Amino acid sequence: MRKIFLYLLIFICICFVLPVIFTSRFSEKVNVKVNLSEEKIQNANETTESTYDYKKYKEIKLLHKKSKKIETIKLDEYLYGVVSAEMPASFENEALKAQATVARTYTLYKIVNNSKKHDKADICDDSSCCQAWISKDERLKKWNEKEREGNWNKIVNAVNNTQGKIITYNGKPINAFFHANSGGATEAPINVWGGSGYPYLQSVTTSGENAYSGYKSELKVTKDEFKEKIKKVHSDFEIDFNKKDCIKIEEYTEGNRVKNIKIGNLNLSGVEIRNIFSLRSANFKVTIDKNEIKFEVVGYGHGVGMSQTGADSLAKEGKNYKDIINHYYKNVKIEDM
Ligand SMILES: [Zn+2]
Repeated sequence: MRKIFLYLLIFICICFVLPVIFTSRFSEKVNVKVNLSEEKIQNANETTESTYDYKKYKEIKLLHKKSKKIETIKLDEYLYGVVSAEMPASFENEALKAQATVARTYTLYKIVNNSKKHDKADICDDSSCCQAWISKDERLKKWNEKEREGNWNKIVNAVNNTQGKIITYNGKPINAFFHANSGGATEAPINVWGGSGYPYLQSVTTSGENAYSGYKSELKVTKDEFKEKIKKVHSDFEIDFNKKDCIKIEEYTEGNRVKNIKIGNLNLSGVEIRNIFSLRSANFKVTIDKNEIKFEVVGYGHGVGMSQTGADSLAKEGKNYKDIINHYYKNVKIEDM
């Protein structure tokens, strides 16, 4: 009797219970798959397509400085790599759009005006020479997995939503300089590189840049290091640290940077001191503290043109990318290339 009951129980299990368990497991898996593919479709829909018909510069020749190889790359694809290398993806959409427009303009300016600088290439991927660029693979690797897709979509949208837009002055693409953090005021190029000819690049102020990490920095060197570094460039350098005003800032630029500084027997520009000591900017205070010289630096970069943290700060205030561009570049137009 017991045996019959046991067989009956096994029979019920095989016929009814196991199929129910397997079916529910299977449908769970199917559901997960459907959810994933839906998510992918949604994310893909979040990016706009690259449809702009560039009349001339559809492709550019990019020189990879390290490998010395020249890559032919679609302009928009090149710009994805520039924007993602030059500005944090966490910045506001309108700041990223301003960066995309500035990068496109800067690229075109280089193509038109620097045709012989890189021989057969239009531009290089070195930020100290042209503008930074990073491949999509390298870029994605540097972001953690969770934010990878969202970040990349933000960059792609910034470029695609400003497709073909460039900044012009008198009908020509401007030399769209930009830098990381102006420290509150941008600089006229004459105070950085001398010369003139960029009427659209003037000193402008922006609030809120002190909220960013690059705003303040400090450098301390011993008196001996200080002397050595200046002597490398000016062998006749002499200084008596016991004398009052042996280091004295004599003049500031309109952008609050050091214009002239008297150091011992020398009169130097703030830019030269910035270069000698690799300071983040020429906006600095300098003090002598016992055996040390201390530089307190504000801002990051040469200070000319658009400040990237300033752009983000303006976007947070509700300004759009055109407002941001018109803030940093005077009397310009935003036109289709
Ligand atoms: Zn270059």
